[in-house]
Amino acid sequence: MKNSVIIFLVVLFYACAPVGEKNDSLPFIKGVYGNPGTLLDAGYSFDSLGMNAVFVRSISLNQEFYESARQQGCRVFVEFPTLNGKNYLQENPEAWPINEKGEQTPAADWFMGICPTDPGFKAFRTKQLNAILSEFDVDGIFLDYLHWHAQFETTEPILPETCFCNRCTDMFEGQLGHAIPGSGIPEKAAWILDNADDEWRSWRNSILNGWVRDLGELVKQSRPEALLGVFYASWYPADHDSALYRKLGIDVAELANHVDVLSPMLFHRMKGRPVEWVGEYVEWLGELTGGGEGDAPLIWPIVQSHNSPGVVTPEEFRQVMLEGSRHPSSGIMMFSDQSLLQDKEKMEVMKEIYLYEK
Ligand SMILES: [Zn+2]
Repeated sequence: MKNSVIIFLVVLFYACAPVGEKNDSLPFIKGVYGNPGTLLDAGYSFDSLGMNAVFVRSISLNQEFYESARQQGCRVFVEFPTLNGKNYLQENPEAWPINEKGEQTPAADWFMGICPTDPGFKAFRTKQLNAILSEFDVDGIFLDYLHWHAQFETTEPILPETCFCNRCTDMFEGQLGHAIPGSGIPEKAAWILDNADDEWRSWRNSILNGWVRDLGELVKQSRPEALLGVFYASWYPADHDSALYRKLGIDVAELANHVDVLSPMLFHRMKGRPVEWVGEYVEWLGELTGGGEGDAPLIWPIVQSHNSPGVVTPEEFRQVMLEGSRHPSSGIMMFSDQSLLQDKEKMEVMKEIYLYEK
């Protein structure tokens, strides 16, 4: 009798334990972001550094690198530059984001975004993603630059109002159910911002969610086991006058419903934050999205090892790595391979954590 009660309780415990499939099948992810092939070129091997994953930019992905990463026990996740398009605009100016004055919005520092409703650009990115998926058996695709035109990787963000191109305002009219008063773009933009701000922000968010849904479907159709991740600006909702939602178009709670992995870009120096902010954000994100349990997305932060702005010392790098690895995080990586190669002490810090602490 006693044994059957114990067995019953054990079965009940496991039946009720909120552990999702994604958690069951994955170890703690220990990655490097960027062009990790540079580590191999410098004579390192991924397995000897304790790595079990690479997060490689699409542009740096090739067959030789892919094979090497696999042979050295790494999962291969590919960064996909969703709405970053400076080169595309040179031959396709119709995709340029338009500001409230009706002008082409200037580049935001080094970043140049694309109007997310441009069908030609979406077809262009769709073709690129399909090419990656057909050529490589990837473990996941990580959407990057998934936001309306803006620059957030700085203490002084650049946050223009976009996009008021005719295509965007026509689509928004459809959402509103009536014509937007005004004859030209400046008049229509002014009316929208003064009279339909909530609807405008919601519509902009829905356009980004459409990108996540559509690209996510491509990933799952081609590679059902592959994870869909996203790199995004790790601002709290109220930061910078609610710019994460109002300007970038991102609602993290909503995003969590559409992806397998959330990778907040916890670049503490670029955002003028103390190292403790990294761990605090991870904890907050876990509470918001379900802590990586059950159907909730996994949380794999990317932290800053890069020396600009300021200098991230090896000890500071160690602190942000540990802060970013705190529960409910189930993976970690850093920006980027170059910063490790430029400071061998940071390479040692990473190796120490990956081999002995995680
Ligand atoms: Zn537009």
